[in-house]
Amino acid sequence: ELTSSEVLSEAELAFEGALRPASLAEFVGQPKVRGQLELLLKAAGLQNRTPDHILLAGPPGLGKTTLAMIVAHESGRPLRTSSGPAIQHAGDLAAVLSSLVPGEVLFIDEIHRMARSAEEMLYLAMEDFRIDIMVGKGAGATSVPLDLAPFTLVGATTRSGLLPNPLRDRFGFTAHLEFYDDDDLAKVIERAAPMLDFQLDKEGIAEISGRCRGTPRIANRLLRRVRDYALVHKTSGDVDAVRAALRLYDVDALGLDRLDRAVMSTILTRFGGGPVGLSTLAVSVGEEGETIESVVEPFLVRIGLITRTPRGRMATELAYKHFGIATAQESLP
Ligand code: ADP
Repeated sequence: ELTSSEVLSEAELAFEGALRPASLAEFVGQPKVRGQLELLLKAAGLQNRTPDHILLAGPPGLGKTTLAMIVAHESGRPLRTSSGPAIQHAGDLAAVLSSLVPGEVLFIDEIHRMARSAEEMLYLAMEDFRIDIMVGKGAGATSVPLDLAPFTLVGATTRSGLLPNPLRDRFGFTAHLEFYDDDDLAKVIERAAPMLDFQLDKEGIAEISGRCRGTPRIANRLLRRVRDYALVHKTSGDVDAVRAALRLYDVDALGLDRLDRAVMSTILTRFGGGPVGLSTLAVSVGEEGETIESVVEPFLVRIGLITRTPRGRMATELAYKHFGIATAQESLP
């Protein structure tokens, strides 16, 4: 799967690592979030204290991990990385928290997938830099308080709505990352191409920008495929190479991938344009509801192919046009 799949090969991981901007100044786009983070880090620096806890929310590939690294880098603090799925017991979290060095930045990716018991431990840790550890079992069990080094938690989530309120409230600041516009994506690609030893002309760059789902990770991934194409076919990096490569990998004019298209065709053809409920949609395309809601839908809504109504998801007129299907009205005899 070329686009929204989140399983990255080793080569891709290495490439992503090399491409990550190291400072806010190098971070393309998201001017609002950048300004907010800059202020927060500067103020903390002036008072020589650990910056407030930060929640980064938004679809995959928009730069959450990158920003967590930048927070650590810009404030000159070490970074520890963990993820929700890796924290299945309060004890997993206790082990991480108790080993932090003063001022460390703790990044927890997919924080909405952490175990409940760990979430509760995190409340106290975030607020008072303290946790209670249970010692012993049964009637003789006692809780022993343990002081922690002050730290900054940076949580990332594709679903801020899934976080319990007490956890959400303990972040001093929540950044909502938006899909990138074409100009910003062009900058991402311009920056990445030389790192691949690849020259792509302006038109070629624009073509990728318009077909990467507003997502820097996908822009970089498509760029690699175009580079491969040009290499193998000994062509130059121009718009023809981009089109040929993207045709080969089934990326359509809007950048929709296989799952996007499965969702659209389900709504359009199986359910007559909708409304379709989320769970019905998920079963029909064989995906989890959470993936549909946090990965697929935000982009389809943003480019105006579907709308969310209280009764479910509905295809728009633009969707009928893009997929070349007559609307119910037009197809009346
Ligand atoms: P997330 O954690 O939100 O899934 P990442 O931070 O891992 O996303 O970003 C994915 C890739 O996209 C990385 O290789 C990163 O370098 C690139 N990227 C993301 N945001 C930007 C940006 N604003 N400017 C330049 N590159 C970016």
